[in-house]
Amino acid sequence: MTKRVVALTFHDIAADAAVTAEGSDPFYRIRLSEFETLVSQLRQRGYQTVSSKFFRAWQQHAASLPQRSVMLTFDDGYASHFDAVVPLLVRHRFTGTFFIAVDLVGRPGYMTWEQLRKLVFLGMEIGSHGLSHRPLTEVSPQELRRELEESKRLLDERLGIHVQAMSAPRGFWNRTVANATTQAGYDAVWVSTIGTNGQETSPSALRRVVVRQPFSADRIISMVDGWHMAFWWAANQQFMIRLLKRTLGVYWYEQLKRRLVPNA
Ligand SMILES: [Zn+2]
Repeated sequence: MTKRVVALTFHDIAADAAVTAEGSDPFYRIRLSEFETLVSQLRQRGYQTVSSKFFRAWQQHAASLPQRSVMLTFDDGYASHFDAVVPLLVRHRFTGTFFIAVDLVGRPGYMTWEQLRKLVFLGMEIGSHGLSHRPLTEVSPQELRRELEESKRLLDERLGIHVQAMSAPRGFWNRTVANATTQAGYDAVWVSTIGTNGQETSPSALRRVVVRQPFSADRIISMVDGWHMAFWWAANQQFMIRLLKRTLGVYWYEQLKRRLVPNA
């Protein structure tokens, strides 16, 4: 069977007593206990985690994938990633890719530069999630360049790394953004299009499965296992969201979501 990799996307992971970060979306927030269940089930099923860098090496025939591979990605740089996620990953000998929105570093509820340095030390991969977390399809060409280049430069300099991956803020992405990303020196763009990734998948539109409410570990595991019906179900949900975003535009979509999701 041809190998495919499923990349899961997480946002804020809420521990019981945790302070919720400003901008943390209840639709995308899952509980720490839910995350723990998922991680231990993946472990039990013999999954090993791969980074974006490792995945790209495999795409270029420079590395071979473990028998059962999964990619764990975390967007926005929430403090809960440092407090709850990383200790859990380390305990399971798992690795994660953390996409950081640079302007949010150090804000209440988000990781500090010091914490990000510890992530690097613990073998976690850091990618860019832009500067301001604005949808990159909505900014001017100059701002687009700045979002991509400046976020990479700051992460590289302050963490002593070489950032190669980026994830599109709020999942907004198009051809212009993809081209600008390559020009800015990235070799992988992770988006929110649902699906699996093979050797043929374009590195400027790598697919991810966003883990959101209502949470079901079984459904996520079915997708990681490559069960097609689970993808079909999730793709339908995603299609509706995309259709709403496109017809309403960013502003009205956010307004609608606020009405539909309690406590948003
Ligand atoms: Zn984000």
